[in-house]
Amino acid sequence: MTANTPLLEKLAAEYGTPLYVYDLDGVDAARRDLFGALPESFDVFYAFKANPHVELVRALRTGEGPACKAEISSTGELAAALEAGYPGTDILYTGPGKTRGELARAIVDGVRLFSAESLSDLTHIGEAALAHGVTADALLRINSATAGASTSIRMTGTPTQFGIDSETVAEIAAQLRDVPGVTVAGLHLFSQSNARDEKALIGEFLRSIDVAAAMQEDLGVRLRMMDIGGGFSVPYAQAGARAQYPGLRAALEEKLDTTFPGWRQGEPRVAVESGRYLVGDSGTLLAGVSNVKVSRGRKFVILDAGINTFGGMSGLGRLLPVSVVVDTDGAGRATEKASLVGPLCTPGDILGREIEVPETADGDVLTIPNTGAYGPTASLLMFLGRPAPTEAVVRGDEVLHVSRIEHIRTPV
Ligand SMILES: *Cc1c(COP(=O)(O)O)cnc(C)c1O
Repeated sequence: MTANTPLLEKLAAEYGTPLYVYDLDGVDAARRDLFGALPESFDVFYAFKANPHVELVRALRTGEGPACKAEISSTGELAAALEAGYPGTDILYTGPGKTRGELARAIVDGVRLFSAESLSDLTHIGEAALAHGVTADALLRINSATAGASTSIRMTGTPTQFGIDSETVAEIAAQLRDVPGVTVAGLHLFSQSNARDEKALIGEFLRSIDVAAAMQEDLGVRLRMMDIGGGFSVPYAQAGARAQYPGLRAALEEKLDTTFPGWRQGEPRVAVESGRYLVGDSGTLLAGVSNVKVSRGRKFVILDAGINTFGGMSGLGRLLPVSVVVDTDGAGRATEKASLVGPLCTPGDILGREIEVPETADGDVLTIPNTGAYGPTASLLMFLGRPAPTEAVVRGDEVLHVSRIEHIRTPV
């Protein structure tokens, strides 16, 4: 999305910084592109962890075109899904550490589809369902022994807390099929995030479909549903456009026609999942410059937004390496090399080291594009006790919703 600069300036003046602005027109466009790149009957699960803001997740369910379903992993995300109007039947509950308490909550709230990450997880799902007098469906999450293309985040092929090792499925198939209160309805194969390019994405999907076919044999269960994962890509706090996938649909159709000939009739139903692609480019982060200083010849631009506002997981050296790029909004401003740092009392509070930034002074506002995914939700919001950033939701020029998360300690 191209930034609506006059609106951004107006909002920053009115609400101050740090400020996220999410444009629902961008969310709509991403949803259209994603459904357009997939075979017609596919389901899309939106991974709430990318951004659980209720107005964004509501936009993914309403409006024109096919609606996203919800992929959630906590009672907080469950509450957001319900508030945004997702029926329990459109929710997939995932995660390796689902507690008995949260499973009971989900069942009571109408969720009937769970990704099961181990035999014990499956047993807990069944117990929660039985306690409520219902039966749940489970997708067995598979940790495939064969790992494929390189992507920025891999979750299969190695020992992890995620999924059931594919090589053990045949051996424990009878146990998996016989857990009271839960029916094995299908498979969940999530192996990559943020695929490098279309070729890598397609390669991983085709591999996942082969793994699903093999697992169907090993399990001795006719799959009703299979979630073949994701990996759809969008720049993260860098300029640039969402990836497009012109060859994906044909490649998936051809593969499914040979591997699961009933898929066009919904046997099995096929789903993919996406977080960042659907919301990433709808968001812009506005950060105020608090100080500019020079230390031993190096320039530091100190912002009011650090890893407490954006990319906190990368500040810990984990998962999401971040080096933001500041939008220069074509204003012809000169740039200079500087480190962009946040306000926190830790040297880890860095958004960009020795990067090109517009020449700035105290009081300027910098614009960081493509920050709609893994913003506040993936940041160290509590660390050092600063207020959470303000989040504004707009559609074009219309401001719909402005809010901020508050942390309040309450007696329990
Ligand atoms: C994080 C996650 C996603 C979303 O990943 P993106 O790269 O944001 O699309 C989807 N599915 C599962 C199981 C995840 O853990």
